[in-house]
Amino acid sequence: MPAEKIATNHLEPGIYPIKAFSDNYIWLLTNGHDAAVVDPGQAAPVFDTLQHHNLTLVSILLTHHHQDHVGGVLDLVAHSGAHVFGPASEVLPVCNTPLQENDTVKDASLGLRLTVLDVPGHTSGHIAYAGTFGDDPILFCGDTLFAAGCGRLFEGTPAQMDASMGKLAALPPQTRVYCAHEYTLSNMRWARTVEPDNQVLARWQQAAQKARDQDQPTLPSSIAQELACNPFMRTRHPAVAQAAAQWARHALTSPIEVFAALREWKNNFR
Ligand SMILES: [Zn+2]
Repeated sequence: MPAEKIATNHLEPGIYPIKAFSDNYIWLLTNGHDAAVVDPGQAAPVFDTLQHHNLTLVSILLTHHHQDHVGGVLDLVAHSGAHVFGPASEVLPVCNTPLQENDTVKDASLGLRLTVLDVPGHTSGHIAYAGTFGDDPILFCGDTLFAAGCGRLFEGTPAQMDASMGKLAALPPQTRVYCAHEYTLSNMRWARTVEPDNQVLARWQQAAQKARDQDQPTLPSSIAQELACNPFMRTRHPAVAQAAAQWARHALTSPIEVFAALREWKNNFR
């Protein structure tokens, strides 16, 4: 629920989007007076939210090194002393606890328990955080998985990204997926071209359009929704593989080739 709709300044325990740049979300987790943020590309909107709700920033979680995900970290640390977690194999402005696959991040007062997944592809050291907040299964996937889409392959191969998507696909279906950008509608326009007969996708697109018409985020999505609708998670689905081969104008002999064709198709889709 957006902060504006709450009568007092107190935020109920939960996960809230802080808008940054034109389409980034910095996810804020709070319980009581403690807060954590994921991928703060800008410090100012985070400071505003912390101050407005009288919150103390205790942790910062980073998924990868891109500036629109780490640009606010130094300022936030200087003013809060927050502890910074991030990928071990990437160069970050600051990182107190470097993380790699199967490492855990726990914060008892926030009610947060996360396990790290290595998900290379968008960047070579990109990590995701999967686990629970209270009783809710959650995923912070940075720029790896988007609603009905995935991140561009700046530093990785289709094979790496396909394997990374496979790790996320194996999470519990009810897992809430907190992506770092509002790319949903544009991804869905493309996904409907790939799978015009996918009725689950058609209904989700309507709901997402309604949310955006009211200036609401389309996120979080869920792993179940992504499995049903996201072409990059459906490379083994005959309709998706066939559409990718038609676009590529040649036979595709493996899910990785399907993934590579889909990524190329999306890169060129207008
Ligand atoms: Zn990025």
